[in-house]
Amino acid sequence: MERSLERLREDTRRFVKNIFSKYYSSLASTFIEEPPRISGREFGFNLFDKGIVRHISFKSRDDLLEYLKANSPSDCYYSSAFYMNPSASMDGKGWIGAELTFDIDADHIHTDCKAEHDRWVCTSCRYEEDGDIPERCPNCGGDKLEERVWFCERCLLAARRETMKLIEILSSEFGVEEDNMTIYFSGHRGFHIHVSGEVEGLDQNSRREIADYLLGVGSDPSVYFERMIAAMDAGGAKLRILRAIYDLLSSASPEDLKAIGLKRSFIESIVEDRDRILGRMLEGGFDRFAREVGLTSIRKLIAKAVEYSSVKIDSVVTLDIHRLIRLPGSLHGKTGLMKSRVGSSLESLEGYDPLSEATPFRDFRDHVKLYVYSAPKFRIEDESYGPFEGEEVSLPLQPALLLLCKGVAYISG
Ligand SMILES: [Zn+2]
Ligand SMILES: [Zn+2]
Repeated sequence: MERSLERLREDTRRFVKNIFSKYYSSLASTFIEEPPRISGREFGFNLFDKGIVRHISFKSRDDLLEYLKANSPSDCYYSSAFYMNPSASMDGKGWIGAELTFDIDADHIHTDCKAEHDRWVCTSCRYEEDGDIPERCPNCGGDKLEERVWFCERCLLAARRETMKLIEILSSEFGVEEDNMTIYFSGHRGFHIHVSGEVEGLDQNSRREIADYLLGVGSDPSVYFERMIAAMDAGGAKLRILRAIYDLLSSASPEDLKAIGLKRSFIESIVEDRDRILGRMLEGGFDRFAREVGLTSIRKLIAKAVEYSSVKIDSVVTLDIHRLIRLPGSLHGKTGLMKSRVGSSLESLEGYDPLSEATPFRDFRDHVKLYVYSAPKFRIEDESYGPFEGEEVSLPLQPALLLLCKGVAYISG
Protein backbone atom coordinates (compact mmCIF):
# COMPACT_ATOMS: atom_id res chain seq x y z
CA MET A 1 0.00 0.00 0.00
CA GLU A 2 2.69 2.44 1.13
CA ARG A 3 4.86 1.69 -1.91
CA SER A 4 2.11 2.05 -4.48
CA LEU A 5 1.00 5.38 -3.00
CA GLU A 6 4.60 6.55 -3.27
CA ARG A 7 4.57 5.50 -6.90
CA LEU A 8 1.31 7.37 -7.63
CA ARG A 9 2.71 10.49 -6.03
CA GLU A 10 5.83 10.21 -8.16
CA ASP A 11 3.81 9.77 -11.38
CA THR A 12 1.68 12.76 -10.45
CA ARG A 13 4.69 14.91 -9.68
CA ARG A 14 6.23 13.98 -13.03
CA PHE A 15 2.99 14.81 -14.86
CA VAL A 16 2.76 18.23 -13.18
CA LYS A 17 6.42 18.95 -13.89
CA ASN A 18 5.86 18.07 -17.52
CA ILE A 19 2.94 20.52 -17.80
CA PHE A 20 4.97 23.27 -16.13
CA SER A 21 7.79 22.52 -18.55
CA LYS A 22 5.41 22.88 -21.52
CA TYR A 23 4.29 26.19 -20.10
CA TYR A 24 7.81 27.55 -19.74
CA SER A 25 8.90 26.42 -23.18
CA SER A 26 6.03 28.09 -25.06
CA LEU A 27 3.24 30.05 -23.31
CA ALA A 28 5.44 31.74 -20.72
CA SER A 29 7.01 34.22 -23.14
CA THR A 30 3.56 35.83 -23.54
CA PHE A 31 2.82 36.05 -19.83
CA ILE A 32 6.12 36.53 -17.99
CA GLU A 33 6.55 40.10 -16.85
CA GLU A 34 10.16 40.71 -15.90
CA PRO A 35 10.80 43.32 -13.20
CA PRO A 36 12.17 46.71 -14.23
CA ARG A 37 15.97 46.93 -13.79
CA ILE A 38 16.14 43.15 -14.12
CA SER A 39 19.94 42.97 -13.91
CA GLY A 40 19.84 44.35 -10.35
CA ARG A 41 17.40 41.74 -9.03
CA GLU A 42 18.01 38.55 -7.12
CA PHE A 43 15.95 35.59 -8.34
CA GLY A 44 15.03 32.44 -6.48
CA PHE A 45 13.23 29.31 -7.62
CA ASN A 46 11.65 26.21 -6.23
CA LEU A 47 12.73 23.39 -8.54
CA PHE A 48 10.78 20.14 -8.77
CA ASP A 49 13.90 18.01 -8.26
CA LYS A 50 16.31 20.19 -6.30
CA GLY A 51 14.13 22.36 -4.05
CA ILE A 52 14.93 26.02 -3.39
CA VAL A 53 17.77 27.80 -5.20
CA ARG A 54 18.46 31.54 -4.88
CA HIS A 55 21.04 34.32 -5.36
CA ILE A 56 20.59 33.97 -9.11
CA SER A 57 20.63 36.96 -11.45
CA PHE A 58 19.87 37.63 -15.12
CA LYS A 59 21.12 40.27 -17.51
CA SER A 60 17.94 40.40 -19.58
CA ARG A 61 14.45 39.09 -20.11
CA ASP A 62 15.80 36.59 -22.64
CA ASP A 63 18.25 35.22 -20.07
CA LEU A 64 15.39 34.76 -17.64
CA LEU A 65 13.13 33.05 -20.19
CA GLU A 66 15.95 30.71 -21.14
CA TYR A 67 16.49 29.70 -17.52
CA LEU A 68 12.76 29.08 -17.09
CA LYS A 69 12.70 26.94 -20.20
CA ALA A 70 15.68 24.87 -19.05
CA ASN A 71 14.52 24.41 -15.45
CA SER A 72 10.69 24.76 -15.43
CA PRO A 73 10.46 25.64 -11.72
CA SER A 74 7.39 24.93 -9.64
CA ASP A 75 7.62 28.49 -8.24
CA CYS A 76 9.57 31.60 -9.33
CA TYR A 77 10.50 34.60 -7.22
CA TYR A 78 12.52 37.81 -7.49
CA SER A 79 13.64 40.45 -5.02
CA SER A 80 11.54 43.58 -4.68
CA ALA A 81 14.98 45.10 -3.98
CA PHE A 82 17.55 45.99 -6.59
CA TYR A 83 21.19 45.52 -5.77
CA MET A 84 24.68 46.31 -7.00
CA ASN A 85 25.56 42.58 -7.03
CA PRO A 86 22.31 40.60 -6.94
CA SER A 87 23.99 37.18 -7.11
CA ALA A 88 26.39 37.84 -4.21
CA SER A 89 25.67 36.50 -0.72
CA MET A 90 23.39 38.66 1.44
CA ASP A 91 26.18 40.88 2.92
CA GLY A 92 27.79 41.52 -0.44
CA LYS A 93 24.70 42.45 -2.44
CA GLY A 94 24.78 46.23 -1.97
CA TRP A 95 21.15 47.24 -1.44
CA ILE A 96 20.09 50.21 -3.57
CA GLY A 97 16.35 50.35 -3.04
CA ALA A 98 13.19 48.25 -3.13
CA GLU A 99 9.66 48.62 -4.31
CA LEU A 100 7.07 48.66 -1.55
CA THR A 101 5.05 45.47 -1.73
CA PHE A 102 1.81 44.33 -0.12
CA ASP A 103 0.45 40.84 0.19
CA ILE A 104 -3.21 40.30 0.96
CA ASP A 105 -4.03 36.66 1.42
CA ALA A 106 -7.29 35.02 2.47
CA ASP A 107 -5.13 33.20 5.07
CA HIS A 108 -5.05 36.41 7.10
CA ILE A 109 -8.73 37.22 6.76
CA HIS A 110 -11.44 35.57 8.79
CA THR A 111 -13.99 33.89 6.53
CA ASP A 112 -16.66 31.40 7.57
CA CYS A 113 -16.01 29.23 4.53
CA LYS A 114 -12.63 28.04 5.86
CA ALA A 115 -14.32 25.68 8.28
CA GLU A 116 -16.05 24.12 5.27
CA HIS A 117 -13.04 23.68 3.00
CA ASP A 118 -9.83 23.58 5.05
CA ARG A 119 -8.83 20.18 6.39
CA TRP A 120 -5.84 17.99 7.16
CA VAL A 121 -4.91 14.66 5.64
CA CYS A 122 -2.71 11.74 6.71
CA THR A 123 -0.21 11.11 3.91
CA SER A 124 0.24 7.48 4.98
CA CYS A 125 -3.36 6.26 4.88
CA ARG A 126 -5.15 9.26 3.29
CA TYR A 127 -7.52 9.59 6.24
CA GLU A 128 -8.72 13.20 6.46
CA GLU A 129 -10.80 15.44 8.64
CA ASP A 130 -11.82 19.09 9.07
CA GLY A 131 -10.32 21.32 11.70
CA ASP A 132 -6.97 21.49 13.51
CA ILE A 133 -4.19 18.98 12.82
CA PRO A 134 -3.83 16.38 15.59
CA GLU A 135 -0.42 14.96 16.67
CA ARG A 136 -1.12 11.57 15.16
CA CYS A 137 -3.55 10.11 12.66
CA PRO A 138 -6.51 8.59 14.55
CA ASN A 139 -6.86 6.00 11.77
CA CYS A 140 -3.34 4.57 11.35
CA GLY A 141 -1.35 6.31 14.09
CA GLY A 142 1.01 7.87 11.52
CA ASP A 143 2.49 11.30 12.15
CA LYS A 144 2.87 12.55 8.58
CA LEU A 145 -0.12 14.87 8.47
CA GLU A 146 -0.52 17.69 6.01
CA GLU A 147 -2.79 20.72 5.84
CA ARG A 148 -5.07 20.97 2.86
CA VAL A 149 -6.17 24.54 2.49
CA TRP A 150 -8.63 25.16 -0.28
CA PHE A 151 -9.72 28.51 -1.62
CA CYS A 152 -13.22 29.32 -2.75
CA GLU A 153 -14.94 32.28 -4.33
CA ARG A 154 -15.81 33.68 -0.92
CA CYS A 155 -12.11 33.64 0.07
CA LEU A 156 -11.22 35.43 -3.16
CA LEU A 157 -13.96 38.02 -2.67
CA ALA A 158 -12.83 38.69 0.89
CA ALA A 159 -9.24 39.16 -0.34
CA ARG A 160 -10.48 41.46 -3.07
CA ARG A 161 -12.42 43.61 -0.60
CA GLU A 162 -9.30 44.05 1.53
CA THR A 163 -7.25 44.89 -1.54
CA MET A 164 -9.77 47.55 -2.57
CA LYS A 165 -9.51 49.12 0.88
CA LEU A 166 -5.74 49.12 0.54
CA ILE A 167 -5.81 50.77 -2.88
CA GLU A 168 -8.14 53.47 -1.57
CA ILE A 169 -5.89 54.19 1.39
CA LEU A 170 -2.70 54.18 -0.70
CA SER A 171 -4.17 56.69 -3.09
CA SER A 172 -6.13 58.95 -0.73
CA GLU A 173 -3.95 58.84 2.40
CA PHE A 174 -0.47 58.21 0.97
CA GLY A 175 -0.93 60.00 -2.35
CA VAL A 176 0.32 57.04 -4.40
CA GLU A 177 -0.36 57.67 -8.09
CA GLU A 178 -1.94 54.98 -10.27
CA ASP A 179 1.13 55.00 -12.50
CA ASN A 180 3.24 53.82 -9.59
CA MET A 181 0.95 51.02 -8.46
CA THR A 182 0.35 47.60 -9.98
CA ILE A 183 -2.15 45.05 -8.71
CA TYR A 184 -1.62 41.31 -9.26
CA PHE A 185 -3.59 38.18 -8.47
CA SER A 186 -1.15 36.03 -6.46
CA GLY A 187 -2.02 32.75 -8.16
CA HIS A 188 -3.59 31.33 -4.99
CA ARG A 189 -5.72 33.00 -2.32
CA GLY A 190 -5.02 36.70 -2.72
CA PHE A 191 -3.51 39.76 -4.31
CA HIS A 192 -0.20 41.60 -4.38
CA ILE A 193 0.32 45.31 -4.84
CA HIS A 194 3.70 46.59 -6.01
CA VAL A 195 4.39 50.30 -5.48
CA SER A 196 7.34 52.00 -7.17
CA GLY A 197 8.64 55.59 -7.21
CA GLU A 198 9.69 57.61 -4.17
CA VAL A 199 8.90 54.77 -1.74
CA GLU A 200 11.82 52.72 -3.07
CA GLY A 201 14.27 54.40 -0.70
CA LEU A 202 12.25 53.71 2.48
CA ASP A 203 14.10 51.79 5.18
CA GLN A 204 12.65 48.94 7.22
CA ASN A 205 11.41 51.19 10.04
CA SER A 206 9.42 53.42 7.72
CA ARG A 207 7.94 50.33 6.09
CA ARG A 208 6.98 49.00 9.51
CA GLU A 209 5.19 52.27 10.28
CA ILE A 210 3.23 52.00 7.07
CA ALA A 211 2.29 48.39 7.82
CA ASP A 212 1.24 49.26 11.38
CA TYR A 213 -0.84 52.17 10.15
CA LEU A 214 -2.67 49.93 7.68
CA LEU A 215 -3.22 47.18 10.23
CA GLY A 216 -4.50 49.71 12.76
CA VAL A 217 -1.76 48.62 15.20
CA GLY A 218 -1.39 51.14 17.99
CA SER A 219 -4.86 52.51 17.36
CA ASP A 220 -5.72 52.40 21.02
CA PRO A 221 -9.42 53.25 21.15
CA SER A 222 -9.03 55.58 24.12
CA VAL A 223 -6.27 57.53 22.38
CA TYR A 224 -8.43 57.71 19.30
CA PHE A 225 -11.33 58.90 21.35
CA GLU A 226 -9.36 61.88 22.63
CA ARG A 227 -8.08 62.74 19.20
CA MET A 228 -11.31 62.22 17.38
CA ILE A 229 -13.42 64.55 19.42
CA ALA A 230 -12.74 67.36 17.00
CA ALA A 231 -11.71 65.32 14.03
CA MET A 232 -14.63 65.45 11.66
CA ASP A 233 -12.68 67.72 9.35
CA ALA A 234 -9.37 65.88 9.70
CA GLY A 235 -8.16 63.57 6.94
CA GLY A 236 -6.47 60.19 6.92
CA ALA A 237 -7.07 57.35 9.29
CA LYS A 238 -9.27 59.36 11.66
CA LEU A 239 -11.68 60.30 8.96
CA ARG A 240 -11.66 56.71 7.71
CA ILE A 241 -12.52 55.45 11.19
CA LEU A 242 -15.25 58.04 11.64
CA ARG A 243 -16.68 57.00 8.32
CA ALA A 244 -16.59 53.38 9.48
CA ILE A 245 -18.53 54.35 12.62
CA TYR A 246 -21.05 56.16 10.46
CA ASP A 247 -21.40 53.10 8.20
CA LEU A 248 -21.77 50.82 11.18
CA LEU A 249 -24.48 52.95 12.75
CA SER A 250 -26.31 53.42 9.45
CA SER A 251 -26.52 49.76 8.56
CA ALA A 252 -26.01 47.60 11.65
CA SER A 253 -28.96 45.64 12.99
CA PRO A 254 -29.75 45.79 16.73
CA GLU A 255 -28.17 42.30 17.01
CA ASP A 256 -24.92 43.55 15.41
CA LEU A 257 -24.85 46.52 17.75
CA LYS A 258 -25.41 44.21 20.70
CA ALA A 259 -22.55 41.98 19.51
CA ILE A 260 -20.24 45.01 19.56
CA GLY A 261 -21.15 45.34 23.22
CA LEU A 262 -23.01 48.64 23.14
CA LYS A 263 -25.31 49.76 25.94
CA ARG A 264 -28.94 48.77 25.56
CA SER A 265 -30.20 52.33 25.95
CA PHE A 266 -27.94 53.48 23.11
CA ILE A 267 -29.05 50.64 20.86
CA GLU A 268 -32.65 51.59 21.54
CA SER A 269 -32.05 55.22 20.68
CA ILE A 270 -30.26 54.22 17.46
CA VAL A 271 -33.14 51.99 16.47
CA GLU A 272 -35.72 54.67 17.29
CA ASP A 273 -34.01 57.66 15.80
CA ARG A 274 -31.13 56.62 13.59
CA ASP A 275 -31.41 59.65 11.32
CA ARG A 276 -31.22 62.19 14.11
CA ILE A 277 -28.13 60.54 15.64
CA LEU A 278 -26.32 60.23 12.31
CA GLY A 279 -27.32 63.78 11.44
CA ARG A 280 -25.76 65.03 14.63
CA MET A 281 -22.55 63.16 13.88
CA LEU A 282 -22.39 64.76 10.45
CA GLU A 283 -22.98 68.23 11.78
CA GLY A 284 -19.72 67.95 13.67
CA GLY A 285 -21.25 67.35 17.04
CA PHE A 286 -19.26 64.17 17.61
CA ASP A 287 -18.21 65.47 20.99
CA ARG A 288 -21.73 65.79 22.34
CA PHE A 289 -22.77 62.67 20.51
CA ALA A 290 -19.91 60.74 22.14
CA ARG A 291 -20.76 61.95 25.62
CA GLU A 292 -24.40 61.11 25.12
CA VAL A 293 -23.53 57.60 23.97
CA GLY A 294 -21.24 57.08 26.92
CA LEU A 295 -17.53 56.46 27.13
CA THR A 296 -17.68 52.67 27.28
CA SER A 297 -19.93 52.31 24.28
CA ILE A 298 -18.07 54.81 22.18
CA ARG A 299 -14.76 53.02 22.85
CA LYS A 300 -16.26 49.74 21.78
CA LEU A 301 -17.65 51.40 18.70
CA ILE A 302 -14.27 52.90 17.84
CA ALA A 303 -12.50 49.58 18.42
CA LYS A 304 -14.92 47.91 16.03
CA ALA A 305 -14.46 50.69 13.49
CA VAL A 306 -10.66 50.39 13.68
CA GLU A 307 -10.94 46.67 13.04
CA TYR A 308 -13.35 47.25 10.19
CA SER A 309 -11.34 49.99 8.51
CA SER A 310 -7.87 48.46 8.88
CA VAL A 311 -6.38 46.35 6.09
CA LYS A 312 -5.31 42.77 6.71
CA ILE A 313 -1.94 42.81 4.96
CA ASP A 314 0.80 40.30 5.71
CA SER A 315 3.13 42.83 7.34
CA VAL A 316 6.23 40.60 7.04
CA VAL A 317 6.11 41.04 3.26
CA THR A 318 5.82 44.82 3.48
CA LEU A 319 8.63 45.48 5.92
CA ASP A 320 11.24 42.99 4.68
CA ILE A 321 13.45 44.96 2.29
CA HIS A 322 15.15 41.79 0.98
CA ARG A 323 11.98 39.84 0.38
CA LEU A 324 11.54 37.63 -2.67
CA ILE A 325 8.12 37.93 -4.28
CA ARG A 326 6.44 35.78 -6.89
CA LEU A 327 7.28 36.59 -10.50
CA PRO A 328 4.29 37.88 -12.53
CA GLY A 329 3.35 35.46 -15.27
CA SER A 330 4.86 32.46 -13.48
CA LEU A 331 2.79 29.49 -12.30
CA HIS A 332 1.90 28.93 -8.67
CA GLY A 333 3.07 25.45 -7.66
CA LYS A 334 0.08 24.90 -5.38
CA THR A 335 -2.60 25.73 -7.98
CA GLY A 336 -1.22 25.76 -11.54
CA LEU A 337 -2.71 29.26 -11.85
CA MET A 338 -0.59 32.25 -12.86
CA LYS A 339 0.36 35.24 -10.83
CA SER A 340 -1.25 37.67 -13.20
CA ARG A 341 -1.58 41.40 -13.71
CA VAL A 342 -4.91 42.96 -12.75
CA GLY A 343 -4.16 46.62 -13.51
CA SER A 344 -3.62 49.84 -11.59
CA SER A 345 -7.08 51.03 -10.63
CA LEU A 346 -9.98 50.07 -8.40
CA GLU A 347 -12.08 49.55 -11.52
CA SER A 348 -9.61 47.06 -12.96
CA LEU A 349 -9.82 45.04 -9.74
CA GLU A 350 -13.61 45.24 -9.59
CA GLY A 351 -13.90 43.69 -13.02
CA TYR A 352 -11.21 41.03 -12.50
CA ASP A 353 -12.04 37.33 -12.21
CA PRO A 354 -8.93 35.28 -11.32
CA LEU A 355 -10.63 32.00 -12.17
CA SER A 356 -11.06 33.14 -15.78
CA GLU A 357 -7.94 35.22 -16.26
CA ALA A 358 -5.13 33.49 -14.38
CA THR A 359 -5.80 30.26 -16.27
CA PRO A 360 -3.18 29.82 -19.02
CA PHE A 361 -4.37 26.31 -19.93
CA ARG A 362 -8.02 27.27 -20.43
CA ASP A 363 -7.92 26.50 -24.15
CA PHE A 364 -6.51 22.98 -23.69
CA ARG A 365 -9.55 20.82 -24.27
CA ASP A 366 -7.87 17.41 -23.92
CA HIS A 367 -9.07 15.62 -20.83
CA VAL A 368 -6.92 14.19 -18.05
CA LYS A 369 -7.97 11.12 -16.06
CA LEU A 370 -7.44 11.40 -12.36
CA TYR A 371 -8.50 9.94 -9.06
CA VAL A 372 -9.71 12.61 -6.63
CA TYR A 373 -9.60 11.93 -2.89
CA SER A 374 -11.75 14.85 -1.97
CA ALA A 375 -12.45 18.30 -3.35
CA PRO A 376 -15.22 20.83 -2.82
CA LYS A 377 -17.16 22.21 -5.76
CA PHE A 378 -15.12 24.80 -7.66
CA ARG A 379 -15.23 26.89 -10.81
CA ILE A 380 -12.83 27.56 -13.67
CA GLU A 381 -14.16 30.16 -16.09
CA ASP A 382 -17.91 29.48 -16.43
CA GLU A 383 -17.65 25.77 -15.74
CA SER A 384 -18.26 24.18 -12.33
CA TYR A 385 -16.53 20.98 -11.18
CA GLY A 386 -17.14 18.67 -8.24
CA PRO A 387 -17.64 18.19 -5.43
CA PHE A 388 -15.58 14.99 -5.69
CA GLU A 389 -15.19 12.35 -3.05
CA GLY A 390 -13.01 9.29 -3.70
CA GLU A 391 -13.79 8.98 -7.40
CA GLU A 392 -12.22 8.66 -10.81
CA VAL A 393 -12.94 11.64 -13.08
CA SER A 394 -11.91 13.01 -16.45
CA LEU A 395 -11.31 16.78 -16.54
CA PRO A 396 -9.83 19.43 -18.83
CA LEU A 397 -6.22 20.30 -18.02
CA GLN A 398 -6.70 23.50 -15.99
CA PRO A 399 -9.10 22.09 -13.36
CA ALA A 400 -7.17 18.79 -13.34
CA LEU A 401 -3.92 20.66 -12.69
CA LEU A 402 -5.52 22.57 -9.82
CA LEU A 403 -6.49 19.31 -8.09
CA LEU A 404 -3.09 17.72 -8.74
CA CYS A 405 -1.16 20.78 -7.52
CA LYS A 406 -3.40 20.99 -4.47
CA GLY A 407 -2.44 17.41 -3.68
CA VAL A 408 -6.01 16.12 -3.56
CA ALA A 409 -5.78 13.92 -6.65
CA TYR A 410 -3.40 11.67 -8.55
CA ILE A 411 -3.00 10.79 -12.19
CA SER A 412 -4.81 7.59 -13.10
CA GLY A 413 -4.95 7.50 -16.89
ZN1 LIG B 1 -3.29 7.64 8.74
ZN1 LIG C 1 -13.35 30.02 1.18
